[in-house]
Amino acid sequence: MAHVVAADGTRSPVRRTLGITEDAGPVFGESVNVCFRSAALTRSMADSPHMTHWVVDAELSGAVYITGRDDRWILNVERDPALPDSAYDDARRVDMVRRAVGDPDLDVEVLTTLRWLHESAVADTWRVGRVLLAGDAVRRFPPHGGFGMNSGIQDTHNLVWKLVRVLRGDASDGLLDTYEQERKPVAVHNRDQVMLNTERLAETGWLADAAEEIAGIELPEGEAIRRRIRDGVPAQREQFWTSGQQFGYLCTSSAVIADGTAPEVSTVSDYRPTGHPGARAPHLWLRDRQDRRCSTVDLPAAGFVLLTGAEGEPWREPADRLGIRRVVIGRDLVPERVDLHRHPPRGDRPEPGPRARRLPRAVRHRAEGSRSGQAGWPHHPAQPGWGDRTRTLVDAWNRVRR
Ligand SMILES: Cc1cc2nc3c(=O)[nH]c(=O)nc-3n(C[C@H](O)[C@H](O)[C@H](O)COP(=O)(O)OP(=O)(O)OC[C@H]3O[C@@H](n4cnc5c(N)ncnc54)[C@H](O)[C@@H]3O)c2cc1C
Repeated sequence: MAHVVAADGTRSPVRRTLGITEDAGPVFGESVNVCFRSAALTRSMADSPHMTHWVVDAELSGAVYITGRDDRWILNVERDPALPDSAYDDARRVDMVRRAVGDPDLDVEVLTTLRWLHESAVADTWRVGRVLLAGDAVRRFPPHGGFGMNSGIQDTHNLVWKLVRVLRGDASDGLLDTYEQERKPVAVHNRDQVMLNTERLAETGWLADAAEEIAGIELPEGEAIRRRIRDGVPAQREQFWTSGQQFGYLCTSSAVIADGTAPEVSTVSDYRPTGHPGARAPHLWLRDRQDRRCSTVDLPAAGFVLLTGAEGEPWREPADRLGIRRVVIGRDLVPERVDLHRHPPRGDRPEPGPRARRLPRAVRHRAEGSRSGQAGWPHHPAQPGWGDRTRTLVDAWNRVRR
């Protein structure tokens, strides 16, 4: 039976046609992105380690981004909503780029222009029958934190493995309902955090619109605004250090089996890897018997996987009966090193020993059984069904498939 995945962007004609409502905030600004080519700018910035340069100027404020290829750059500035598109003609766009860069003679070839709104919304319904919405069609927010595409990729990953299972007849249609159950709360959380980032950004002066104030920014009397910007910089941390927001989400749905334990909760900037049911499986580098490297995250790529330690031998028979691949950590795959602490900001967590070979607790204490890379059910002696491994496995298997 055919399904439609509508990934048709923020204005999603499919969403509108289906009459799906949104939890939407007001439009609070407009931007224009000018993509341009400039070999001279690439040359003059060759030694710059920065990807983004913020421009705070009385006549033009915005940001200049390098795209990393073919001398292409992007200028992002606030757009005057009162002006028609024709006002942003080639001459104006070249002038804006030159002002932002501070070189009136810069060679500039304008390639494309994108007009976009500052707004946020999350669709109330992500599925109508056999139509499933994904990407910006189902939620949108300003780019402050970089969560638009990120969320879209995570959403789509969550949706597609389920869709494949349903289409193959390996799972019932109900599994598709868990897509919205699991991903909508993540979208709401990302929306709220991105809007907080947007408010905090204003403190840096980047979104300041008081031209007279900015004009005097380098004068002695500009000390107050300089201090305000300086003081606003630390608060930008949650816009740029987002490993906890990216990886630390916990999904709950009818396919996730709670184990009654409290989850390890990540903060926006501090990712705390956990094998709690519904969490993204923690990453750990492993080596197989041929000394090839793979990540725990990639293990379920070919289907459901049951992870055990050497002591998990009693799981072999029930896993074989269900045709679930079992991987014995320490035998089939050996942990290379524990590097889970590398990503959080320095200073927040102790550095691990350089060649530590123990599995993180999160991986040791969980049997993972999810195609999605989310952690599965617990390997916990107190859990009912512990004495009957086959039943535990069958229950979990059925729970995911129904
Ligand atoms: C300035 C800016 C910076 C950003 N920075 C980041 C960032 O750093 N990190 C990040 O993760 N995200 C970022 N984003 C967000 C990211 O670009 C979007 O979330 C992402 O592109 C959305 O992808 P999508 O496929 O859902 O929608 P889109 O990219 O909008 O694609 C939708 C597609 O559907 C097509 N379409 C529409 N209607 C129809 C129809 N009727 N028939 C056929 N096709 C149709 C459109 O032509 C389009 O190709 C940024 C966005 C902006 C504006």
